[in-house]
Amino acid sequence: MAGTVRSRLSLTTVLVLMAVAVAGCSKNPVTREREFVPFSTGQEIETGRKYYRPTQQAQGGQYKADPALNEYVKRVGRKVAKVSDRRLPYEFVVLNNGTANAWALPGGKIAINRGLLLEMENEAELAAVLAHEVVHAAARHGAQAMTRNLIFQVAQAGVALAAGQSQYSRYTNYILGASGVGLQLIGRRYGRDAEREADVHGMRYMKAAGYDTRAAVTLQEKFLALSKGRKPNWLKGLFATHPPSAERVKNNRAALARFPAGGKVGREPYDKALASLRAKQPAYEAADRARGEMAKAPESALGRVDKAIAQEPREALFHGLKGQIQARRSQFTKAVAAYDAAIERDGAYYEHFLGRGLAYDALGRRVEARRDLERSMQLLPTALASHALGHIVLAEGDRARAKTLFGNAANVRGEIGEAARRSLVMLDIADAPDRYVKTQPFLRSGQVLVELTNQTSIPLTDVAIHVEARSGGRTLPRRLSPTRLAARGKAVLASGIWYRGTDRINVDVRVLRARPAAAKTGNARPYRAYP
Ligand SMILES: [Zn+2]
Repeated sequence: MAGTVRSRLSLTTVLVLMAVAVAGCSKNPVTREREFVPFSTGQEIETGRKYYRPTQQAQGGQYKADPALNEYVKRVGRKVAKVSDRRLPYEFVVLNNGTANAWALPGGKIAINRGLLLEMENEAELAAVLAHEVVHAAARHGAQAMTRNLIFQVAQAGVALAAGQSQYSRYTNYILGASGVGLQLIGRRYGRDAEREADVHGMRYMKAAGYDTRAAVTLQEKFLALSKGRKPNWLKGLFATHPPSAERVKNNRAALARFPAGGKVGREPYDKALASLRAKQPAYEAADRARGEMAKAPESALGRVDKAIAQEPREALFHGLKGQIQARRSQFTKAVAAYDAAIERDGAYYEHFLGRGLAYDALGRRVEARRDLERSMQLLPTALASHALGHIVLAEGDRARAKTLFGNAANVRGEIGEAARRSLVMLDIADAPDRYVKTQPFLRSGQVLVELTNQTSIPLTDVAIHVEARSGGRTLPRRLSPTRLAARGKAVLASGIWYRGTDRINVDVRVLRARPAAAKTGNARPYRAYP
């Protein structure tokens, strides 16, 4: 184990050193101060491009029920981006997420949740939030954070950086592989200096774009007041990465001297753009309550989600939630119908395909299940989809791909990871039993004995081994017959080989066979498919 850790450490060190050699020192595009960022602009843009889509997926996907609102936010974003100090391929999206949050990935990929839009009162406040995020991208704050992260990784020598992800628990528990990196990038604080820069230069951008800079002050005042209320929605969202403080309010007020108030406030266009979302708020609240109670009271949850759909039939999320509730009630045909409606409204959100794929699987419709699960994996790879897909390709006879899929899903913690590890063991043990049963020969009272250890959490049966002892030119082979091994259990087998001489004795042991005692590898789903 120590060797593994050391080699990872040196690899990461090499990466840092290479990055240092490539980039070196440069001037910050926003502050004009000299700084060290070991990433080129191209690398920043590439990072943003790579993680923008999966990070959106992991945060609820794009908000599509109101295309006009999306257009409006993009328009305000473009106005602010146009006056930024740095040309980047800026993009702005509204996410279908009720948590009050906004974020920027390196390279200018920016998102704002519908939950934050509801907290603001005018276009200048929206411009303040977007300008703040534009500065984070323009001033390379994300790239600086990546640098810190890289150095942190060196210090931690490959320890998993999963901490802090729980704030997005609904979406991210089961994300696989590199898709989670974007969440790490947006879930981290930039540091106080970066926040101050984003606030002050954000006001400069607001002014240049023609907005009333006072909105940056009123917004911070509002955030500070809200932080005292400790609304869970805020604690999970913007406050986690952008803690409000009296100091920020004071700094913004002081910055008004440099970037004086005046310019567009835009209350009316904002009210117009937000009218539909505000009016539909009761539907979103009903859906949130339905989600909260669907495990304990699925009938009541179904009633609530139907009400939400009646109020806002355009919202794909409500139809998807209905599919989830129907699946929990084991009404899989109805679940498929609800997911159909969701996909009709939003054909680019992984959860709908994942849910419909699992429902098809439960109905035994393997072809449709496979198609949907593959699509959900393209949008956002999850352990849930990977495990379910593994069982499907196994049923089709593709053992190698099933192993890969189970192996990927086995990397996550919790129920799904445990189920995937079991699936993987059950499949792999036939091919490589000695990977799972360890053997240790020893001598007692002149007889060669072998201790067997089941390294899995599955009871094993039919465990057969081959023992071969060589001593003084003689070879004594023995085949020891089937034994049961409890989960993580041990057993000692007597070989019947006796040793009384004074020569050296060499004993080789091979595991010939081992089978899971509960051999339900087929369509067994030892976990709830609808978390
Ligand atoms: Zn910030």
